[in-house]
Amino acid sequence: MVQHTTLATDRLAAQREFRTELIDSGVLVATSVDGLYQRSAVFESVVRGLERRVSAEGADRYEPLLFFPPVLPRDVFVRSDYLRSFPDLTGSVDTFVGDDRDHAELLQALDSGADWTQYLTPAEVMLCSAACHPLYPSLTGTLPVGGRRMEVQGFCFRHEPSIDPARMQVFRQHEFVAVGDPEVCVAHREEWLERALRILGGLGLAVRKVVANDPFFGRAGRMLAANQRDTALKYEIVCPITSAEFPTAIASGNYHIDHFGGPFSIRTADGDTAHSACIGFGMERITLALLKTHGLDPQCWPSTVRTQLAL
Ligand SMILES: [Zn+2]
Repeated sequence: MVQHTTLATDRLAAQREFRTELIDSGVLVATSVDGLYQRSAVFESVVRGLERRVSAEGADRYEPLLFFPPVLPRDVFVRSDYLRSFPDLTGSVDTFVGDDRDHAELLQALDSGADWTQYLTPAEVMLCSAACHPLYPSLTGTLPVGGRRMEVQGFCFRHEPSIDPARMQVFRQHEFVAVGDPEVCVAHREEWLERALRILGGLGLAVRKVVANDPFFGRAGRMLAANQRDTALKYEIVCPITSAEFPTAIASGNYHIDHFGGPFSIRTADGDTAHSACIGFGMERITLALLKTHGLDPQCWPSTVRTQLAL
């Protein structure tokens, strides 16, 4: 127990130290909310390089890259079923729909320091939880023989304020998604996990593959978490950023079975409910892993790494 506590304290200290380094060097700009940062041109140059590097691996085999906005329709969010597993991580968008009298009450609450948010109403959009969620409604119907393969990128929101710079509330995922028969999806995930290990290892990162352990919510969530581990539906590629004992997941490969094919009525050419799988690269986390591994100035990184990222 004592050792466990010491590890946790060390981990927290290391997170704080790396966060301070990133902010003091201007690579990230802090805001008043933990886990929300503004990115410098230096940080973004690495993200752009990574985008090109991973995109090159999917060239010719995937439909052209789609960029998604950070919000998605509420009904799509509901059908993604995210609310059932991770209600504590969701982000709802509220707006004001009242009249002049309601507006006056809102301003009165605002000026008196009372809770003005009670005058807001949920809008028809939610913040995106995963980059591939907005894709599925566009696939409703029957897929061509062999399924479809797509490349997408989008901003994701997860409400988990933390001083760990690798646990941002808003971040980008760059994903490669396959929909079709189970064999197509499992093969897609396996191929991409190996490819991701090669890409990230080639950038000098000490990566390895582990079975994922997602923070499902509540009592039912403990069963979902056990099921996820037992069935090995999701793997993560982890890399030490602020802790060797607790490496950070910087990419993940997820086989969804018919979790999206069912609710979004996606069928294979044979008429079966389509399965899906995705590999997601966490752009901010990979960038942080590179900054931690090679130093805060990308111009001083090994030339092999700079060349691959066109820095
Ligand atoms: Zn995905």
